[in-house]
Amino acid sequence: MPSERRGLTVSERVAEETGGPLVDSFGRVHDNLRISVTDRCNIRCFYCMPAGNVTFMPRAELLSFEEIERFVRLVVPLGVRKIRLTGGEPLVRRDLPRLVERLVAIDGIRDVGLTTNGVLLAEQAHDLFAAGLRRINISLDTLRRDVFARITRRDEFDRVVAGIEAARQVGFDPIKINAVSIRGVTDEEIVDFGHFARRTGLHVRFIEFMPLDADNAWERAKVFFAAEIIQRLSEAIMPLVPVHRSDPSAPATEYVFEDGVGRIGLIASVSQPFCASCNRFRLTADGKLRNCLFSLEETDIRALLRGGATDDEIRAAVRACIAAKREGHEINTARFIQPERPMYSIGG
Ligand code: SAM
Ligand code: SF4
Repeated sequence: MPSERRGLTVSERVAEETGGPLVDSFGRVHDNLRISVTDRCNIRCFYCMPAGNVTFMPRAELLSFEEIERFVRLVVPLGVRKIRLTGGEPLVRRDLPRLVERLVAIDGIRDVGLTTNGVLLAEQAHDLFAAGLRRINISLDTLRRDVFARITRRDEFDRVVAGIEAARQVGFDPIKINAVSIRGVTDEEIVDFGHFARRTGLHVRFIEFMPLDADNAWERAKVFFAAEIIQRLSEAIMPLVPVHRSDPSAPATEYVFEDGVGRIGLIASVSQPFCASCNRFRLTADGKLRNCLFSLEETDIRALLRGGATDDEIRAAVRACIAAKREGHEINTARFIQPERPMYSIGG
């Protein structure tokens, strides 16, 4: 039966003609693309970047906004619906609101989000919101200025706090605060964060520290695990109740305190990997496609974009990249190999 008669949208028809959605060999459908817009950053979190001697990608190697937009338009017919902009620090990329505008306007894209360290957010929150951005995650691992300076090797705590406030004023809702969960750091402040979530209404999400640091200093013993977080918060404040998961592929397990005030999310990438329901893939700032944060291979989309490849050729490369995705990250096995690219150069 012709596809129009079955009521398919244009995107669905092209997906059908180009072989259907992006499915890997384990049946996982990929509709969520994370795009890194730069590997540069204005702070130096120890779990991500080295303290010094960072060589950033030359400007000419970064995908232009036109190239990013072409790529997104190409993958929408393959079922991509959600995009998140990240980095490095995405707000150091000049004119980011212009990219947001272009992506929000693409028919078929339902959701464009941003993950930022918040340092430049006070200056840009208004323009980002006006460009159509609604979902924002701000990273903040501590509520103490001195600890912030130790973690990030920069004294920018006040600017991040101002950035969060600006995001609230402008109307972003919800605002999620991402804290990397590190033993010896997070455990000291977990109860403060619980009260912070209750007082501010911001969603606080703890992400277990993963082996993606440039210093290669990750050890399992340095992860403060999700189960410990729940226990500590439940004992010190009050029990946490799980929130119904509307999106089964969302990495965070969400909880709310028993009285309904204060939302906590846990991203237990190490202790409870969620690879089986993963729907994500990533485009690095220099145009390499990765089917997993931990993948050891990449597909050179930039070479195709700049080498005159047709849309179909690029789609075929995307399909092959997704098809080759491994079953899981294997952090908890002796087989695990840390990728050469640290987090800031992949796009978290
Ligand atoms: N610069 C932005 C920021 O920090 O929000 C965006 C990029 S950053 C790489 C994206 C997220 O990855 C942040 O929430 C950050 O805390 C997290 N992250 C970085 N390195 C990590 C690691 N080794 N383990 C777990 N999360 C990490
Ligand atoms: Fe920069 Fe984000 Fe990495 Fe921190 S986590 S160094 S803010 S890219």
